[in-house]
Amino acid sequence: MRKIVSILVMVFLICQSGMGQEYQDLILKGVNVIDGRNNLLPNRDVVIRNSIITEIIESGSGYIPDSVMVLDLKGKFVLPGLIESHTHFGMRERFESTELTEQEFRRWIYSGVTTVREMGGDARLSSYDNRLIARNEMPGPDIYFAATLGGPDMMRKDLRQIGATQGIGVKKAPWVQTITNDMDIANSIAQVKGTQATGIKMYAGIHADLIKRLTDEAHKQGLKSWSHLTVFPDRPLEVVKAGVDVVTHTWGAFWQDPNVDPSRRIPFTHTSFENARDAIFPSNMEKVNVGEPEIQLLFEEMVNRNTIWDVTYSIAIGNLKIREVYADFLRSASDKGVKFSTGTDWFNDISEPFPSLYEEIEALVNDGILTEMQVIEAATFTGARTIGIEDTHGSVEVGKVANMIVLNASPLDDISALKSIMLTIKKGQLYWRKDY
Ligand SMILES: [Zn+2]
Repeated sequence: MRKIVSILVMVFLICQSGMGQEYQDLILKGVNVIDGRNNLLPNRDVVIRNSIITEIIESGSGYIPDSVMVLDLKGKFVLPGLIESHTHFGMRERFESTELTEQEFRRWIYSGVTTVREMGGDARLSSYDNRLIARNEMPGPDIYFAATLGGPDMMRKDLRQIGATQGIGVKKAPWVQTITNDMDIANSIAQVKGTQATGIKMYAGIHADLIKRLTDEAHKQGLKSWSHLTVFPDRPLEVVKAGVDVVTHTWGAFWQDPNVDPSRRIPFTHTSFENARDAIFPSNMEKVNVGEPEIQLLFEEMVNRNTIWDVTYSIAIGNLKIREVYADFLRSASDKGVKFSTGTDWFNDISEPFPSLYEEIEALVNDGILTEMQVIEAATFTGARTIGIEDTHGSVEVGKVANMIVLNASPLDDISALKSIMLTIKKGQLYWRKDY
């Protein structure tokens, strides 16, 4: 089987070389591979040809031609590139500065973040930035972005949508869509596709039956369906049953508790950022209890449907009380078998050496929610699944794109060893941490 794959890769290389792409051979020698799918493979040589992982063999067991670049990394740890599954750099560019965003792109890539999922911003900026990065004109991760969908009242009031559609307006921008019962859904999804978004994000004020119709059409046209776990007015179980691929935010699960009522909260809007927490948490939070059978039913439905939970744990890190509730919910869901991705929905200060994703990953382990191995899966393979690129990205396996990081110490012993990163490899391109 490995031979067949190698032959296919060679054919691929020959085809590619005509396109003027640089031919690259690289061997990472003597590394311990943590593959992103819960396996640790000690002492391997990882062979990369033209940005694709072509072989993972016992160290020293293969023939190495002279032309190959060999990195002797004996005892180091290789992981898949990290995936930030919830960010809004597009908002940052609109409300703060593009310079800050370029610094974030740089910090991300030198910290091993090779892919980000942008969850609602200005598609013009996202596709422009993505092109510059793809051409190696700017260092940064690959960008996959969403179009934002919401009910009419939300779209009228939400400051962020007004920012994200500057110069064209909320009514006309195809990457921000107002959802109504009588709309032409096929046309609307086709317009989203035209922006180069790869997913729709359902935000607030959309009934579950419409979420289902939008999701079915998105899938038909090759897009992913991403949604808040509670979209209002319906309960999260209805959103999961509508068939979305990924649900966002831990707080969404609170609204499954029969003691709280999401229908009284429509529409959920951000007329200012100060009221954000009031808008998303039930006012009678003390009544919310993860032990409620209906909440457990929600988790079971997520497991049965393979729905990924983009938990944005970072939102709770700064508030001890909320953090405890979040942790209770997530421990319970993880025990049931729900898969999480690591998205932060937040930027720490740009002067910090590592992005907010590191805080999210460490907190999920330190609060006893995921093991080191599980959080690595969440930040790599499950992250790739949120975007739908798991066949080509998200793990260190033969045939996958060579997006990887090299660490000096083992993150399985101590998750903070992620900070011992020495190298990021993205599509065969090397970013040495010492150059950051
Ligand atoms: Zn968000």
